[in-house]
Amino acid sequence: MAPLILNSLEKRFASAAPAVRDLSLTVQQGRFLALLGPSGCGKTTVLRMIAGFEQPTDGSILLGERLLADAATMLPPERRNMAMVFQSYALWPHMTVAENVGYPLTVRGVGKDRARQKVREALSAVRLEAYADRRPAALSGGQRQRVALARCLVTEPDVVLLDEPLANLDRHLRQEMEETFREFHSRSGATMIYVTHDQSEAMALATDVAVMSEGRLLQVAPPEVIYARPEGRIVGGLVGQGSILSVRMPAEEAVRHLDWPRLRDALLHCNVAAPRSDVLVRPQDVILDGSGIAAAVMSSFFEGERYALRLQLADGQPLRAFSRQAVREGETVRVVLQSGWRL
Ligand code: ADP
Ligand code: MG
Repeated sequence: MAPLILNSLEKRFASAAPAVRDLSLTVQQGRFLALLGPSGCGKTTVLRMIAGFEQPTDGSILLGERLLADAATMLPPERRNMAMVFQSYALWPHMTVAENVGYPLTVRGVGKDRARQKVREALSAVRLEAYADRRPAALSGGQRQRVALARCLVTEPDVVLLDEPLANLDRHLRQEMEETFREFHSRSGATMIYVTHDQSEAMALATDVAVMSEGRLLQVAPPEVIYARPEGRIVGGLVGQGSILSVRMPAEEAVRHLDWPRLRDALLHCNVAAPRSDVLVRPQDVILDGSGIAAAVMSSFFEGERYALRLQLADGQPLRAFSRQAVREGETVRVVLQSGWRL
């Protein structure tokens, strides 16, 4: 099936800097891509260009061989076979759940029996069979979200676009809905593009994470790769917990995975002639060990399974760590940094 291809995509609004710049990305059919980045970085603008609500200023969007949009071409949204799920759900209040879900089929002139069958399937996919005759006002936020999903499922879209769909829901419900999205994705086989500023949501849901900052795409990779091998400070700081240490290291060491002997050398025998490198150290890779280097405990919080520590190294750099044993603020501990990743 057809991949969704973004080619050097750019969007400029009247005044300021471009909202999206030189963004290239290919999403294979059936993937679940999370577009992750801070508020204002251009995520919604990318989604709206894919859906057909905004025209690119430069670059192009293709579905396989088919050109959907460029600066001179603009296929209208209804001819793209995509579905967009909005944060507000956009349900008709006067229609029942089944009527809402069946509405796109009515518009397309699908026969009554066939429409009824498809609505039943879609409602079962989101576990709402029992709610077919209710009106949206009689549903919870999570259930309304599921109706909106079912409504997009009946049209069998090639691409489903979701813009921060869980932003209005409380934490408990979000977890339940994450499960619904995963199930929806595996059932529908659609390509999904899911915009979020929440890194844990992106990591939990997606098969691929695309990290954006200031209109640019910084890295696209599966969640495990984004976590273990982030490209640069922004991605490293955005995804997962960790500390970014600045160390001096000989430039010829092009190694990115750093082990303890290397890190210890860099931290203890600071070679002032060597250039600075940013090294990401995850808290679970910081081990309390008498053979390590000294660190002052600035704060210690009991999280249930462990203590979350904020440490300070001798040179003043902060470092986060976990400990299973009780550690008190003001103590000095010794730590071994088992591994680091050069950004
Ligand atoms: P995000 O979804 O990541 O929060 P947006 O895509 O909504 O970011 O916005 C990216 C930038 O583009 C912002 O600076 C925003 O103010 C600007 N922008 C978005 N839509 C418009 C518009 N219709 N007119 C002018 N500027 C816009
Ligand atoms: Mg947005």
